[in-house]
This record gives sequence, structure tokens and C-alpha cells, in this order.
Amino acid sequence: MHRKKKVCVVGSMNMDLMVTADRVPEQGETILGDSFAMSPGGKGANQAVAAARLGADVEMIGAVGDDSFGHVLLSALKEEGIHTEAVQFLAGIATGTATIILSGSDNRIIVAPGANKQVSPELVQAQKEKIADSSILLLQLELPVETVAAAADIARQNDVPIILNPAPYQELPESLLRSAAFLTPNMVENAAMQESSLYSFIKEKLILTKGKQGAAFYEKGEVTTIPSHEVDVKDTTGAGDTFNGALAAQLSDGRSVIEAVTAANAAAALSVKKAGAQAGMPTLSELEQFLD
Ligand code: ADP
Repeated sequence: MHRKKKVCVVGSMNMDLMVTADRVPEQGETILGDSFAMSPGGKGANQAVAAARLGADVEMIGAVGDDSFGHVLLSALKEEGIHTEAVQFLAGIATGTATIILSGSDNRIIVAPGANKQVSPELVQAQKEKIADSSILLLQLELPVETVAAAADIARQNDVPIILNPAPYQELPESLLRSAAFLTPNMVENAAMQESSLYSFIKEKLILTKGKQGAAFYEKGEVTTIPSHEVDVKDTTGAGDTFNGALAAQLSDGRSVIEAVTAANAAAALSVKKAGAQAGMPTLSELEQFLD
């Protein structure tokens, strides 16, 4: 079947800019920091990388600026074997960035969405064959919500199941919640979703990530919890992204929900053993070795 294993991600791409210092500066103050590092990020790109490492054929749809960061981000995706023909370079717009100031356990982040904010429903519509030709569509909320909804509409019209990772959390239109086959909030996002009058109806779609408590999903009113793996935790950044990318890769490969959640829970555990969001994402052979 030509659709097998094809994961389409419509999502964000950022360059993460991280500076470390002994302390964070006061208002109006300039201080000397310690180190600086850049690494590709953004929930869309992170989840695309996680799925690709686990063997999925991944199509990325999104936008970067026509600047040096944009070109670096695209090359990084290509190196992972991700198809990037549907990523637009936007002239005169900055590539999305996340500026992270890290001082001990104090981290402060400013995301400048840049090109991600310009990913319009029309841009996605122009790539509708790529969505229609996928076995699963993976969405997050770092693009404008009307764009996320447009992508979901195309998937629904073509019977492509949708995983919607409601992060960062915002209230969603009912039609979008109805379109999703799976919703994958973490504990904080789930608590926010419980306020919604639609919660009882979306419960059956939930695959919950619960940090070091593992993951849980609902089926026919029953909740099944998969406990986490005990690992030496180095950095939990990107754990949720690894989980979502792995879940998409597994479901696109025809795995059952319990098989996919079990594998995603293990992939995410492996990812927290290493620093950086993408650096710790396992390959399929690393995952299989871990589960052996
Ligand atoms: P997010 O990163 O979006 O906040 P979670 O914290 O729920 O999401 O983590 C996502 C998944 O990563 C969890 O469901 C679990 O599989 C794995 N994970 C997170 N923290 C740990 C941990 N300390 N030990 C083992 N696995 C973890």
C-alpha cells in the first residue's frame, strides 16, 4: 500500500538559541554569560525528526524565513531524510526562533514565531495532495489555529487520521476537536482541557503523557496506563515531542494503539537521557535494543 508509514507534519520550525550564565540579568543590565549554542527546534520539526528516526517516511509542511537560520533548519531536516519540498522560504520574514536563557534551573524563553506565524490556510491548501497521500497527519498548536484547522479539514476529507498535540495549549474550535482521532495533552494541557464542556466527548480520543508516570489512553471508557521506564534523566526537553513523533510513526505503520503508546513511552524515556530536544531522539534500532 503506497500510504504505508507516511507521516505528514504541518507544524513549526524554530532555531533554538541557548545562552547559559551564572545568573539572569536584571532590568537594564548587561552581564557576561558562559556558553552559547544553537540547535534546530520547534514542535513541528522536533516531532518530524522523532518520527523519521523511527523509520517513518516524513513530509514536513511549514515555513522558514529566507535567511541563514532557515537554510540551516531545512538542511537539518533533509539530513534526517525528511521531505522538505513543501516547506516555503518566505522573503523578508525572519525564521522562527526560541531564545533561551539558562541559569541553573532557572530558564527563561522567548519564542519569536516569525515565519511560523505566516503559515496560512492557503499555504497548506496548496499542499493538500501531500496530506491526502499520508497515512497519518500530525499537528501541534505553534501555527495559527486556522491553519491547523485547514490541515485537519483536508485530512478529514481524505480519511487520513489526525494526531493533535494540543501544545502550547489554547482553546480549540469544536470542529477541530471532532476531526482529531487522537489528542495527546501532557498533564498541564489535560487539566486545561478538563475545563471544556466537550471533555466527556473527547475523552475517548485522549492519549495522555504523564511525565515520569508514563502514558495513559482511553478505550471504551476504560483507562489503560503504561508506566514509564526508569532512566537517568538528563534533560526532559522534547520528551513530549519524541512521544508524539514516535506515536505517529508507529500508528502509520499499522500498530495498535497499545503497541504504539508502549513504543512511544519507551522512545520518550530514551530521549530524556540526553541533553537537547532532538539529540536524544532514538533510532528504530536503539528503540528495539532498549525494549529487548
Ligand atoms: P512534555 O514533555 O510535553 O511536558 P511529558 O512530561 O508528559 O510531556 O513527557 C512525555 C513522555 O516522556 C512521557 O509520557 C514519558 O513517556 C516520557 N518521560 C517524561 N519524563 C520522563 C522521566 N522522568 N522518565 C521516563 N520517561 C519520561
